[in-house]
Amino acid sequence: MARLIVQCLVSPPLATNAYVVADPVQKRAVIVDPSFVGAELLARVRSQSFMLDAVVLTHGHIDHTHDAGALARETGVAILAHRADETLLADRVRSGADWLELSFESCKISRYLEDGTDLEVGDARLRVLHTPGHSPGSICLLGEDECLTGDLLFRDGVGRWDLPGGDPAALQKSLRRLAGACPTDATILPGHGKSTTLVRERRSNPYLLDWLTDPVSSEGEIMR
Ligand SMILES: [Zn+2]
Ligand SMILES: [Zn+2]
Repeated sequence: MARLIVQCLVSPPLATNAYVVADPVQKRAVIVDPSFVGAELLARVRSQSFMLDAVVLTHGHIDHTHDAGALARETGVAILAHRADETLLADRVRSGADWLELSFESCKISRYLEDGTDLEVGDARLRVLHTPGHSPGSICLLGEDECLTGDLLFRDGVGRWDLPGGDPAALQKSLRRLAGACPTDATILPGHGKSTTLVRERRSNPYLLDWLTDPVSSEGEIMR
């Protein structure tokens, strides 16, 4: 399969990672989580003569989604996200805009991403994993050599689960699922902070050390 390239811009005000993911041979690209740097991402897409195919949202929090609507309006591309975060995208409270004191821009999902959907980027594919917990509609995008994890998994941390729609048991389950699905040497590209790998996180991330080795969850369910 074709190799993807991933370019990251760190967006103010919350240091959110915004990505251009592209097949450089076919010159097709998607923007993942435009955050507040939609214009800069689009300039980058255009300067490399990539054709923009979609704006993809890992989840519905405003620090990831802010410029999605403006980008879609300007370019005519679809906004792709999981249906379960649709209410976040339309609500200044559930999107976190009020709490984070950020300006709110609502946007509409043009096409729902389901668990198991293969998203085409040129000749490459990103597999959608529905990984709720940080928010109900959080997804990861799994490529051959890379995995965009949104706010599910960070270097040395995991997404918070105490925001509206957050669910610690679901988060734990999603992390176990990701650990099973993602190649151990794939580059983890999180929604905030530096990139990492599953090998590193399994070794040093306190949450994964605790949750991936604990055979019994807090609900008493056997997790292995
Ligand atoms: Zn978030
Ligand atoms: Zn975030």
